[in-house]
Amino acid sequence: MVTSPKDLENLQREIASLAKRQGDLEDVVLEIMERRESAQSRVTELTERLGSVEARIAEVTERRDAAAAEIDAETATLAKERAVVAGSVPDSLLALYEKLRAQRGGVGAARLYQRRCEGCQLELNITEANEVKAAEPDAVVRCENCGRILVRTSESGL
Ligand SMILES: [Zn+2]
Repeated sequence: MVTSPKDLENLQREIASLAKRQGDLEDVVLEIMERRESAQSRVTELTERLGSVEARIAEVTERRDAAAAEIDAETATLAKERAVVAGSVPDSLLALYEKLRAQRGGVGAARLYQRRCEGCQLELNITEANEVKAAEPDAVVRCENCGRILVRTSESGL
């Protein structure tokens, strides 16, 4: 019960202070609601991006699997073709080729193209070129530099 002008004054001061506090709290609530709204739109945006990234992953995975299947099929075909060719090569030459292939990073024979060994990329000198030229067509000739079997063709430059 308000009994004096001083009490009334105190009460009015308290009411004013509470009104200010209410105003401040309403500002805080407003700010929180705005932040919530912005966070929700960010969640929506990120969810959409996630969906698009997941779709892209699915698409790329499908392409990778298709490419792997193609490579597997090609590998199988080449292995069959190689077996046929290897069957027509004399055992000693095949053994030499396999040995060189193991020693020379998977390439045991190289084309001789315009007097250059395509295995090591070095050009044969005149003497070497003449020796290769003089060799019988079915003789096994090898690169002086890398030791690989040289495959002669009409473009060997001899
Ligand atoms: Zn060579």
